[in-house]
Amino acid sequence: MFCKIASREIRAELLHEDPDVVAFEDGAPQAPFHALVVPRQHISTLSELMDERVSGRLLQVVRKVAADAGHAGGFRVVINSGGAVGQSVRHLHMHVLAGRHFGWPPG
Ligand code: AMP
Repeated sequence: MFCKIASREIRAELLHEDPDVVAFEDGAPQAPFHALVVPRQHISTLSELMDERVSGRLLQVVRKVAADAGHAGGFRVVINSGGAVGQSVRHLHMHVLAGRHFGWPPG
């Protein structure tokens, strides 16, 4: 699914796109702002992310989408890596959430 969004096979409104990374709104938002930042290349989990350049690009896009949405002052980044912790889509993605209170520790 995320491969198809990243390759533009499925039309989704993108918050950001570049040769390495796309970002779009989560379809079931868990906060007033909830974006997903996704590598175009199919990488299933964070455990399989070896490319340091793509790793850096992902974090820079996280920073950018949060700032563009007016949340540079506070946002949470979540990566579920593996089914054991609730990863439901087997294409690496970083959740960027903002706009409400977040408890700690996370559930
Ligand atoms: P995770 O549980 O960490 O794998 O998160 C998967 C996320 O992808 C969930 O927050 C879903 O709401 C979101 N999601 C699944 N399919 C789509 C889609 N087609 N467009 C946007 N978000 C999606």
